[in-house]
Amino acid sequence: MIRGISETAILSNGVPMPWFGLGVYKAEDGEEVERAVLTALEVGYRNIDTAAMYGNEAGVGRAVKASGIPREQMFLTTKVWNTDQGYDSTLKAFEESRRRLGVDYVDLYLIHWPVKGKYKETWKALERLYRDGWVRAIGVSNFQIHHLEDLLAGCEIPPMVNQVEYHPRLTQKPLLAFCEEHRIQLEAWSPLMRGRIFDDPVVRRLAEKYNKSPAQIVLRWDLEHRVATIPKSVRPERIRENADIFDFQLAPQDVANLDQLNRDQRVGPDPDHFHF
Ligand code: NAD
Repeated sequence: MIRGISETAILSNGVPMPWFGLGVYKAEDGEEVERAVLTALEVGYRNIDTAAMYGNEAGVGRAVKASGIPREQMFLTTKVWNTDQGYDSTLKAFEESRRRLGVDYVDLYLIHWPVKGKYKETWKALERLYRDGWVRAIGVSNFQIHHLEDLLAGCEIPPMVNQVEYHPRLTQKPLLAFCEEHRIQLEAWSPLMRGRIFDDPVVRRLAEKYNKSPAQIVLRWDLEHRVATIPKSVRPERIRENADIFDFQLAPQDVANLDQLNRDQRVGPDPDHFHF
């Protein structure tokens, strides 16, 4: 059982990654993102997920510094955007992200989307950054099983993380099993389905049963599956609420009831059909 906000998954290279973190997609750079990150750090979050594409790495970096929390206690993730994929352009994009964040190293660097014909070259750049010590772990995002098989067949260092859309309406069972088998830690984006799962009767019933909010039920379900999770909010009360999931556990039957809500339904783009 995962009992605390600072508990970590141990990645395949031995690096600890907090199971729980803050996502900052669509948090505006400047005051909005800085306040959200500072609040989260005060509450005990130590894992912050940003991306070059979010345009708020600088604000995340400022908040991390302002918090006074030692850098080594923090786990920062950022991602290379699609238009920067390729070997040299990824190295350059990484350096820009690192400078915007104002850090000496990044904890986890991800390929944001599996851009066809590009992601293998991009991966070589991530391997180089890893070997050179600029990143403590490397991974991918939005990779389906076939993308992972393709990457694993030719890579020197296997990805340590795959960050994908994951919630009770998109349980991705085959992908989760594949990742477990290959020691790739799955991480959930849009774990709350951007708010669209809260009215589900099963989620509501469980919220009553456990005296928790619908958001807390769905986030705890991630942890029961040993899937890392990074819910987004910029509101202090929700940042606190989302983190208050370490004092209870879902019974196996309730985990199964949530699993049954799967409809392979996405709120974000399909990794096999995206055009950006
Ligand atoms: P999410 O499922 O975390 O939903 C966030 C929204 O849910 C908030 O904007 C708010 O409206 C609502 N919410 C949050 N907490 C709540 C609460 N306690 N009660 C009621 N409503 C609440 O969606 P997301 O932001 O898309 O995903 C989380 C993070 O995942 C992102 O911020 C980003 O860091 C990451 N992400 C990654 C990718 C990728 O391609 N790798 C794509 C999307 C998101």
